[in-house]
Amino acid sequence: MKYFDYTATTPVDSEVLETYINTTKKFFANTTSLHRLGEESNHMYEVCTRRIKDIIGVNNHKLVYTSNATEANNLAIFGTVLKYEKAKIITTKIEHPSVYNVFKELEDKYEVIYLNVNNEGIIDLKQLKEEMNQDVVLVSIMWVNNILGSVQPIKEVIDIVKKYKKAHLHVDCVQGICKVIPNFNFNDIDMFTFSTHKIYGPKGIGGLFVREGIELNKRLYGSSSQFSIKPGTFDLSLVASTAKCFIKFYNKTCEHKEDVKKKYLYLREKLEKNNQIVFNTNGDNISYYILNISLIGIRGETIVHTLERDEIYVSTGSSCSSKLAKPEKTIYAISESNERSTSTIRISLSFLTTYEEIDALVDAINKITNGVKWLWRMIWY
Ligand code: PLP
Repeated sequence: MKYFDYTATTPVDSEVLETYINTTKKFFANTTSLHRLGEESNHMYEVCTRRIKDIIGVNNHKLVYTSNATEANNLAIFGTVLKYEKAKIITTKIEHPSVYNVFKELEDKYEVIYLNVNNEGIIDLKQLKEEMNQDVVLVSIMWVNNILGSVQPIKEVIDIVKKYKKAHLHVDCVQGICKVIPNFNFNDIDMFTFSTHKIYGPKGIGGLFVREGIELNKRLYGSSSQFSIKPGTFDLSLVASTAKCFIKFYNKTCEHKEDVKKKYLYLREKLEKNNQIVFNTNGDNISYYILNISLIGIRGETIVHTLERDEIYVSTGSSCSSKLAKPEKTIYAISESNERSTSTIRISLSFLTTYEEIDALVDAINKITNGVKWLWRMIWY
């Protein structure tokens, strides 16, 4: 198997799995129980949360664990916006559906702005400045795009948004954490999201960091657990696994990025020899974990299933929308081309990727484009 879909999800690291199993065995008691076993579980929860915060250097935020990043993004956006009767909210045209579709849902009641991106998938800061005013209550901009790997200028966004008292900044950090060294301070962001299964942990847990003092509109009612923002019993083993992922991988961000960058450049150089490929990932502000390409004239879905025959696994785009045969919205936003945005595939890399796997992928892609070239010649002559 040659797996190139690490953006959709990652395999669970064996040490992380061990942490999960050990915590399940040793700390099964409910963190809210008053007895000693409950206290031990609660202590474990607090230690894990403290470790995560220390590792990323956050000192003024609550960490609310959710079922995944989708839930964390929904919580941040609805939780902020629904407190207001009338407001202006700003996001981008290339957000993950767990942000983009929430903004779509809010269009009936609020003024919603979707920022443009350039052909490298980078937002227009001038447009953001022009759109900001005293009515803005929320700006939600992702750090690293999940389709292209483009890295947004979050530091500059922070500087613009912080001038407006009422405006909260939410950043979807799912594809940035453990992949890109931030050039900003997490403490300067009001709310940010991560997902454990994207960083070699189990599925079923994500998180939202919320700056102290921010009151989110309640979506769920129940116990006082997790600051009453996400009440109910949670799986401590997932929390411990998340902490283990941060402990094991966060400080390796730079090392892994350098390794992945070499693999990205190797892959790109090989693919550049094939003139039937259009590169959608471009420019210097990229994570190197994603290379998005289009094979014009071949549907993304067809490419995915053809590669699958050689046990090569890539994606057409976001895992949440990859089954829909629609133009990929991020690729459309950078290209305004139906052809490019229906023939796109996303190749995503990891420190686990090998050069042999890359060679096999390149051969398989060349086989597909050669086959199409041959077919066209047959039809033409
Ligand atoms: N945000 C981004 C940028 C993503 O890439 C994803 C998943 O692909 C999500 C949010 C949603 O993550 P989850 O699968 O944890 O809900």
